[in-house]
Amino acid sequence: MANKEMKHEQNIAGKFYCTHPDDDNGEGCIACNVCYNGAPDFFAEDDDGNAYVKKQPTTDEEIEACREQIEECPVASIGEDGE
Ligand code: SF4
Repeated sequence: MANKEMKHEQNIAGKFYCTHPDDDNGEGCIACNVCYNGAPDFFAEDDDGNAYVKKQPTTDEEIEACREQIEECPVASIGEDGE
């Protein structure tokens, strides 16, 4: 599960977020490239290749694009329960 207590500091506020690579549960981002290549309008990489949410989705289509990345993330690092 993603960890909303350990969000990447560059996530823009909102429901979707990426978990920081230093997450204690071992489910943080591993810089695999999938989400920011799959949905580059919403996910971006920091200087180390770790992902963060740069824009929150608003339309149903955009939300679905972000949910697809939740499914694709190999370490379940993306959450939709943020604020
Ligand atoms: S898909 Fe997951 S592990 Fe890969 S870059 Fe995105 S948040 Fe990180």
